[in-house]
Amino acid sequence: MKRIVLLGATGSIGDSTLRVIAAHPEQLRLVAVAANSNSDKLLQIARDHPSVRHVALCDETADAAARDNLPPGVALHAGPAGLRELAVLPEADVVLVAIVGTAGLLPALDALAARKDLALASKEILVLAGDLVMDTAARSGARLLPVDSEHNAVFQCLQGHPPAHVCRVHLTASGGALRDWPLERLRHATPADVLKHPNWSMGPKITTDSATLANKGLELIEAQKLFGLKPSQLAAVLHPQSVVHALVEFTDGSTLAQLCPPSMTFPIQHALLHPERSGSPALPPLDVARLGTLAFAPVDETRYPMLRLAREVMNAGGTAPAIYNAANEAAVAAFLADKLPFHRIAEITETTLREVPVTHTRSLDEILETDLRARRVAAAHIAANYV
Ligand code: NDP
Ligand code: MG
Repeated sequence: MKRIVLLGATGSIGDSTLRVIAAHPEQLRLVAVAANSNSDKLLQIARDHPSVRHVALCDETADAAARDNLPPGVALHAGPAGLRELAVLPEADVVLVAIVGTAGLLPALDALAARKDLALASKEILVLAGDLVMDTAARSGARLLPVDSEHNAVFQCLQGHPPAHVCRVHLTASGGALRDWPLERLRHATPADVLKHPNWSMGPKITTDSATLANKGLELIEAQKLFGLKPSQLAAVLHPQSVVHALVEFTDGSTLAQLCPPSMTFPIQHALLHPERSGSPALPPLDVARLGTLAFAPVDETRYPMLRLAREVMNAGGTAPAIYNAANEAAVAAFLADKLPFHRIAEITETTLREVPVTHTRSLDEILETDLRARRVAAAHIAANYV
């Protein structure tokens, strides 16, 4: 039985995780859940799972309402410190971090330092502080289990293969909601257009990142850190069906791929049960005979400038990925609020990358300072030019 802490329980990954836990009652038990402000949904999850003994809300204004409605025997942990308390609960075996943005970074580091298995969905954490996270895991001996579907796929393909045998890793990209739009039409794309993802059902930030391929950019950086690869060993490939999630090419010319339906329940289930594969899947597996054609194509970087910027950022190293992530987050938020045209997201990110100096540091304070600075620079450009 693995006892699970779920940070980001009220989101899209949170929903899929709850489905996986429900499908494996003998192996998985939910003991604590956290969210930002959605106290109604968080408390409902606690009521639905009597094994939950701890809840945390990061947004302190949501705490008061929750305090009056707590199910009996459930403790409420408040603010950012509350998330960190949940991450190191003595009764927890696995901490799944699925918080959008950077608020999951400190709890993730705490969980690793406390030698918990860390099932990591939040890609921002490795993008921001990949070296620090990997060092912390190596020092404590904690396991880092990738939940992001492409990284989970790479992780599965690498089992039993030493790093020296890996030649190249390909992460697949669906191309997002606008992949078939003519280039000149992209400037008119609205949030409603972008949020109609062809294959995946996800939160709005990551769905927008799928349309710009910033999501793939973040994932390439994530893979660089997670698997200790050089930028030249990593590539993105377009694959509209989202059935193959990653391919690992070995030095002898063989390539292994991982396939499953485009639902996050599969990688979540793999990460939570690892190294077991027992039990039945939370959703039906692939019907291979009915798959039909699986298509692959190179990525056109004119259509997806965020991918070109991600490669530049991987080569620059240091805090460059943090700047890329922060500027993109600010630009995506402005786009989703109808304050920035779609095609300017990459422009804001590129301008911010040119203006904020890159440093090579493992100091968390310095990384977070750079993150804030990049957000300020991006916000100033958005405000000055486009509001
Ligand atoms: P959602 O927007 O659907 O959910 C976000 C979750 O994070 C909510 O539970 C939200 O709580 C919580 N949250 C936000 N800010 C804080 C905070 N400061 N403290 C505590 N909790 C907070 O996002 P997704 O589930 O789509 O994505 C979550 C993470 O997983 C992201 O990093 C994303 O990149 C990654 N990921 C997502 C995939 C997907 O398929 N969705 C695939 C691969 C990776 P509240 O409801 O209260 O706001
Ligand atoms: Mg992914």
